[in-house]
Amino acid sequence: MVERTFVAIKPDGVQRSLVGEILKRFELAGLKIVGMKMQWLDKEFAEKHYTEDISKRRGEKVRNLLLDFIIEGPVLAIVFEGVNVIENVRKLVGDTEPRAAQPGTIRGDFCHVSYDYADKKEIAIKNIIHASANKEDAEYEIKLWFKDEDLHSYETVHEKHILN
Ligand code: GDP
Ligand code: MG
Repeated sequence: MVERTFVAIKPDGVQRSLVGEILKRFELAGLKIVGMKMQWLDKEFAEKHYTEDISKRRGEKVRNLLLDFIIEGPVLAIVFEGVNVIENVRKLVGDTEPRAAQPGTIRGDFCHVSYDYADKKEIAIKNIIHASANKEDAEYEIKLWFKDEDLHSYETVHEKHILN
């Protein structure tokens, strides 16, 4: 039941100085940071993160916009650990389209644009944060971004108050 997931605060989130606010939300939910680093991606790495799967789901055009956007500036890469953490992180992140994202979620609170607007402007939806969609993606993304020795096991106070 305790699992790990991958999160990246995208260039818009970093440049809007939302890192502290975002980390706070995950920490307050009792999720454990087990790995974290800042990285400025090149196109080759970006293509490994946003694979052909995006083209199949969203179209080649969206993938290309996304690849341009994700290399615009450094991102903050994080691995979180917790119970059903993949699902829980997606819940805190909110809907992909900021227009539809509920208040209280990261995307719902800090952005608002629609697919329609972004598509007309020919930009990727700037929705602040990436989070693994499922178990398979989480495993692939954690391996892509982090070496085993850069992921840490340690105890937090939540071990006593949230997990027991
Ligand atoms: P996520 O898992 O919620 O981030 O959503 P996806 O994996 O489906 O898409 C990856 C990213 O592509 C999203 O977070 C958006 O930044 C962007 N994106 C997805 N769909 C669209 C779209 O229809 N139009 C535009 N302009 N960007 C999109
Ligand atoms: Mg996704």
